[in-house]
Amino acid sequence: MPRIQKYLQKHAQNLQPAAIAYLAALDQIESFAPLIAHAIEQELSDQRSHLKLIASENYSSLTVQLAMGNLLTDKYAEGYPHHRFYAGCENVDLVEEMAQEELKQIFGAEHAYVQPHSGADANLVAFWSILVQKVQNKEIERLGKKTLDELTPEEYEQVRKLMNQQKLMGMSLNSGGHLTHGYRHNISSKMMRSVFYDVDPKTEQLDYHTLAKQALQEKPDILLAGYSAYSRRINFAKMREIADSVGAVFMVDMAHFSGLVAGKVFQDEYNPVPYAHIVTSTTHKTLRGPRGGFVLCKAEFADTINKGCPLVLGGPLPHVIAAKAIAFKEANSPNFQDYAQRIVKNANTLAEKLKSDGARIVSGGTENHLMIVDLSSFGLTGRHAESILRKAGLTVNRNTIPGDQNGPWYTSGIRLGTPAVTTLGMGTDEMNEIADIIVKVLKNAKPAIVEKTGQLSKANAEIDPKILDEAQQRVNAILAKFPLYPEIEI
Ligand SMILES: *Cc1c(COP(=O)(O)O)cnc(C)c1O
Repeated sequence: MPRIQKYLQKHAQNLQPAAIAYLAALDQIESFAPLIAHAIEQELSDQRSHLKLIASENYSSLTVQLAMGNLLTDKYAEGYPHHRFYAGCENVDLVEEMAQEELKQIFGAEHAYVQPHSGADANLVAFWSILVQKVQNKEIERLGKKTLDELTPEEYEQVRKLMNQQKLMGMSLNSGGHLTHGYRHNISSKMMRSVFYDVDPKTEQLDYHTLAKQALQEKPDILLAGYSAYSRRINFAKMREIADSVGAVFMVDMAHFSGLVAGKVFQDEYNPVPYAHIVTSTTHKTLRGPRGGFVLCKAEFADTINKGCPLVLGGPLPHVIAAKAIAFKEANSPNFQDYAQRIVKNANTLAEKLKSDGARIVSGGTENHLMIVDLSSFGLTGRHAESILRKAGLTVNRNTIPGDQNGPWYTSGIRLGTPAVTTLGMGTDEMNEIADIIVKVLKNAKPAIVEKTGQLSKANAEIDPKILDEAQQRVNAILAKFPLYPEIEI
């Protein structure tokens, strides 16, 4: 029997619109493409049966999800509100303006641009806008011309080369930086020269004094702060001073921690918005929105950032912007501040318990939503830990640690984050229990032996099935108390 009929019969007295919409959508999809309906259903059941400890993931609200599934996807709206290249964009204007206004209010930003399709796109919009404004536009002026189109092909070639010679300085991947911050295999290192700063090898934290000296030597054009795998706050007042000392544009990628800024956990010098010329973010990590990105900037950059399309992007995704507007409205509330506080409290509880159970946490702890566990003392690689924990019902991802000897494929660490489990409502008791389960599994796992060679596998791990079974049961007991999307009955 179709899901929706079953639901309507059972709940005639108390219908939940979100549940009806979700189940009806699944029935509709199933009638045409059963594989897709099946995959969605299986994903729900997978997420319900595993503890989501991936620091970059979360659970968006059903309102956010449902706002994406409609005809707004059919509209082209190149340009920005009230300045479009297509007719009939009035309704998209309403949606996009609401998203911008909510964002500006949450972060106290001078300007907000909500079109980037992802965090990587937001960074590209930011990088190229900086290059356009600081290099291209200056050259146009220097050549005594008014617009880009007036440049001769030779002049334009010069401008292109100049942009390519600018220098980006970001945090290294090993220290917790992101691929888009100048990594060789990413376009960020191909459009500019990139250099990196590292955490201090002893404290495994940023040392602003060393960073200031390095900046003076390197003289970057863009100083970039932000991370995907660093468990400490960043002092953005100090970073801005360093950027100013070398005349660099100060850019912050808050993809991971924008929810902690929105939730007022990161205030004053730990809030990047007052200090950075440009701030980029994802919308789907701690901020708990749909998959996407945005850019905030000072008024001086607003005109250039608004031209993200055509500079980098094509047409915006109005259905996703609608979902962003809803997520931003959700984040613009005292409830969300409470949520953000609990994320950080949970992360701290988890880290402290892992430590007291004998695990080493990179940098000695956490001040945000994530932590990196060094696996050396367990004799495991990140891949071992990731796969064995997944078997026990915990989803985590492997991660390099500073100075990692195992490289980015195997790694020597795992990254744990609390945004998703906090959304489900978990607190101190659950964090202590989760830490206990993790350490028990890691202590009892050992690298498997590769049959052909007799050597230790760097990927597969083995564990006594009884211990694995016990871990699974403990995970299930926690999950049973905090159901995911309980209104969707499948
Ligand atoms: C996740 C992340 C991104 C990329 O976001 P996508 O939406 O996956 O493109 C960019 N920067 C940082 C710091 C991130 O953590």
